[in-house]
Amino acid sequence: MIAENLKEISTDLPEHVKLIAVSKTKPEEDIMEAYKAGHRDFGENKVQEMTAKYDELPKDIRWHMIGHVQRNKVKYMAPFVHLIHGVDSLKLLKEIEKQGKKHDRTIDCLLQMHIAKEETKFGLDEQELEELLASESFRNMKHVRIKGLMGMATFTDNTDRVKEEFTFLKELFEALKERQDQWPHLEMEILSMGMSGDYKTAISCGSTMVRIGSSIFGERNYN
Ligand SMILES: *Cc1c(COP(=O)(O)O)cnc(C)c1O
Repeated sequence: MIAENLKEISTDLPEHVKLIAVSKTKPEEDIMEAYKAGHRDFGENKVQEMTAKYDELPKDIRWHMIGHVQRNKVKYMAPFVHLIHGVDSLKLLKEIEKQGKKHDRTIDCLLQMHIAKEETKFGLDEQELEELLASESFRNMKHVRIKGLMGMATFTDNTDRVKEEFTFLKELFEALKERQDQWPHLEMEILSMGMSGDYKTAISCGSTMVRIGSSIFGERNYN
């Protein structure tokens, strides 16, 4: 089933949109089924779970951290993580910089913006984004590279509202891209938005990376 689902979704995606298969809570056999079908980009939302899977699975898998990250966990994924989608504070970015330096690598990150009209979702607001960009410590970072923005829309059937939120993020992305030359480590290429329920809307609003879990692997069981 997994290979079929992957194929069905991928053939539908425009060429400029990258698919991240969100494998959180799913066993390694499921990931291997997608891997054997040729898929290499997987998303996890817990550092420990991702690290355990990294240890066991083929080393050419590109691991995406899509969840909220605690600073004290950055060190575990710093040696191998491909892209951290959920960077939502300067403090966290400072820790990523520190760990990147330690492992002599540049860690690619997305800044997560708060676009949903829900209190529960993480992310920066516009003012916090400006403060982060203006800070001396951000300017001096050498081991992080900001590759774009990430956001999650409100969980609702109201497509107009979801569209509004994604469009807002797309506009922020374009505006920041205009100014990116001010920072050597800002390379705005990725706009990560869209999940199983709303990825088509996200793509119509300019997404370049979708994070899809349940439509590939089936519903998650948290017990
Ligand atoms: C779980 C998760 C997804 C995937 O959700 P589905 O609805 O299963 O596609 C995408 N993005 C983030 C940040 C997630 O935590």
